[in-house]
Amino acid sequence: MSIPTLDLNNGSGLPAIGFGTYTLKSDAGIASMVSAIDEGYRLLDSAMNYENETEVGAAVRASSVQREELLVTTKLPGRHHGYTETIASLEQSLQNLGLDYVDLYLIHWPLPRVDKYVDSWRAMIELRDRGLVRSIGVSNFTPTQLTRLITETGVTPAVNQVELHPKFPQAQLREFHREHGIVTESWSPLGNRSDITSAPIITAIAEAHGRTPTQVVLRWHTQLAAVPIPKSANPERQRENITIFDFELTESEIAQISSLESGRLWGGDPDTHEEF
Ligand code: NAP
Repeated sequence: MSIPTLDLNNGSGLPAIGFGTYTLKSDAGIASMVSAIDEGYRLLDSAMNYENETEVGAAVRASSVQREELLVTTKLPGRHHGYTETIASLEQSLQNLGLDYVDLYLIHWPLPRVDKYVDSWRAMIELRDRGLVRSIGVSNFTPTQLTRLITETGVTPAVNQVELHPKFPQAQLREFHREHGIVTESWSPLGNRSDITSAPIITAIAEAHGRTPTQVVLRWHTQLAAVPIPKSANPERQRENITIFDFELTESEIAQISSLESGRLWGGDPDTHEEF
């Protein structure tokens, strides 16, 4: 299975699809992650707040793929915002993972009321310069918050990972990312157990291509140049989800899928949502 690569603004590459690990824990979680790597996933998405960094590190070591070929993402929790706190938090994440660097480190939520995300961003630049983190980015940031980071530090995030699926296609935010060379990652790309894949528009397109509705939704993400990170504990569904680079949706089909827009399903509003 050959997965295309997107260019990040620091010269690194990012696979066009990744693997979400939220809720994957303990030995069963490790087995699901190892299976995902066996199925061809190379980008793993974790966070300190998923409380599974230990399992992600164990899966990296247990898999038959070299560490250098895998890209491990983790995220800074809200309770660790601030310059020194961010440095200490990443050191803790590395300890949890049992790794000496992570490939992508993201600020999990901006928490504008706390107003420390610029301090955290300066620390992430330092962590990158020290080689503990290969690429740095953010999650759940708005254009205003991204602009502030860029203006105050001169460093543009490589990635912004946001809620994105056919019910919330985020056209304006994706356009902002494109203008600034920021890669979009889509969390809950399948709408996490919502009814997206049973929408008649999607089932009709799936039938026309001889694909599953889930494959159509994930292909829609990649043709929007967004990197979906679907989670599945099941090897067959993991394989189904990654087998999407051998067919193309038409512009009209992409537009039809985007017309399912109705708004956020799960995520809070980044201007007000707080989690620590
Ligand atoms: P998701 O990937 O949209 O959906 C996961 C659900 O879909 C699971 O219940 C899974 O069940 C099911 N599923 C997966 N493939 C399927 C298939 N082919 N057919 C039928 N069902 C399928 O939702 P998510 O886990 O919320 O989001 C993905 C990742 O995004 C997370 O794991 C996490 O890494 C990240 N995330 C980030 C943030 C953030 O704030 N940055 C927030 C939320 C999530 P099975 O496991 O049984 O297959």
